[in-house]
Amino acid sequence: MSGGRLAVVGLGPGDAASRTAAADERLAAATDLVGYGPYLDLVAASDAIRHRSDNRQEEQRARLALDLAAAGRDVVVVSSGDPGVFAMATAVVETLHRSDGRYHDVDVSVVPGVTAASAAAARVGAPLGHDFCCLSLSDVLKPWPVVEARLEAVAAADLVVALYNPVSAHRPWQLGRALAILAAHRPATTPVVLGRDVGRAGETTTVTTLAAVDPGTVDMRTVVVVGSTTTRAFAGPAGRTWVYTPRRYPDATS
Ligand code: SAH
Repeated sequence: MSGGRLAVVGLGPGDAASRTAAADERLAAATDLVGYGPYLDLVAASDAIRHRSDNRQEEQRARLALDLAAAGRDVVVVSSGDPGVFAMATAVVETLHRSDGRYHDVDVSVVPGVTAASAAAARVGAPLGHDFCCLSLSDVLKPWPVVEARLEAVAAADLVVALYNPVSAHRPWQLGRALAILAAHRPATTPVVLGRDVGRAGETTTVTTLAAVDPGTVDMRTVVVVGSTTTRAFAGPAGRTWVYTPRRYPDATS
């Protein structure tokens, strides 16, 4: 049978309005949706067959999706946020790499989405306005010493950092350790933004500081943005707190 197509689609943070038109187009055309159950639930009306899987079975999910597409189906693999950021695009491309041309008939594409860091940043202004990076605190797929070494490098480089997968039942202490590493290099007043369930029901955004942040209030549905030494927060009208990182570095000459 001739090959079908497969798109790894980013759903954005959760609300349909933050999803790209390209993502909606592929979702509407799909005969099969593959993904982690809660992400499939974010896709409302669709007659497609839903192939639910556990969040950890990325490789099997990628292979299932490619096999369906190779059989002529129109397949969408869903990821929250952007599919290339700690999500399914890697598993699909890696499976292609390892498949010895088995899927050469399949038309594969990746449809980007709004990642959690961008969505949370937008709620408070522009904390990612200057150089920043994204770091996953999960040590399921990489050893914790690697995470710590990267945090030290982030701290030394004075980058704003968005921490994904900040805590889980199996990782209760890592976020506290991560914040302590950053706090050793940054003022106690450094703004910290906690974006929880951004774009979803019950969303909350909290602006706090490195000295005051309580890791106990953070869960897996939260992205944690820690400012650099130049990030500023101020109170605006209606009790709103704004956060931004200036694009001009303090000792820039021009
Ligand atoms: N591909 C996703 C990230 C998947 S890793 C993206 O680009 O956003 C899962 C982590 O992303 C969560 O632990 C959390 O830190 C963050 N995250 C994803 N969606 C979120 C949302 N709507 N609100 C807050 N954090 C979110």
